[in-house]
Amino acid sequence: MTSKTTRREMLRRLAIGGAACPICMALVGSGSSRAETAGSSHGASHGATKHWNYEGETGPENWGELSAEFRVCEFGFEQAPVDLRNSVRAELKGVEPAFRAMPLKVVNNGHTIQVNCEPGSQSRIDGETFDLLQFHFHHPSEHLLSGRVFEMELHFVHKSAGGKLAVLGVFVQKGAENKAIAPIWASMPTEAGPVRETSTRIDPAALLPESRRFFRYQGSLTTPPCSEGVLWTVFHQPIELSEAQIRKFAGLFPVNARPAKPLNRRFLLQSL
Ligand SMILES: [Zn+2]
Repeated sequence: MTSKTTRREMLRRLAIGGAACPICMALVGSGSSRAETAGSSHGASHGATKHWNYEGETGPENWGELSAEFRVCEFGFEQAPVDLRNSVRAELKGVEPAFRAMPLKVVNNGHTIQVNCEPGSQSRIDGETFDLLQFHFHHPSEHLLSGRVFEMELHFVHKSAGGKLAVLGVFVQKGAENKAIAPIWASMPTEAGPVRETSTRIDPAALLPESRRFFRYQGSLTTPPCSEGVLWTVFHQPIELSEAQIRKFAGLFPVNARPAKPLNRRFLLQSL
């Protein structure tokens, strides 16, 4: 038995042995509204309740070993995120988000800050309609732009009536204070726990960049179980958050970004 096998075996036992993640257990126990189901579709609360995070034995390098359900994290060929470089320009159907203002429902799920969206916000992506389920944040960015890491990245997670997932990714760079993010930042829980419902209204559309130029590829969830078949659209133009706003999130999540995965045989397309 090689040391690699030994380590894998140890991790396998750890996974099967049921060292359940307390954060995940808490979330599983907190009921299952539509929005929380939405969370699980992006791996935010995962049925297997296996603890995972962004460093060490339970970090991204080992996600595939933690649970049988996470195998594709290690063996998948269409994983996200990727480095957005060597793209092919193509005539793609535009992305048309149609987000509505909504009451703020925000949760710290132990892996990120997530805003659960009430029904009514949608996007037309590649000619298909997708409902906006939730959006959440990563620090630093998960995608790279020709090797460049951004301060943060925002993911708008969508699902079609047929169950297909599509994510709109938005880079965040340091700059002016972002007024649209302010009410979310003011209410975000500093510790993992149940969804916090507020009467504050937020406007997710204000978190999109002006330019609709984008990259497009077929990828996966960037958190366990890393399920493939996710249609990715990452906007070229970043939005801005102030240094203080970025620091506030980074204080809670110093690193919650999966490293970039190889493109393999996929095409990375860029809108004209
Ligand atoms: Zn994400």
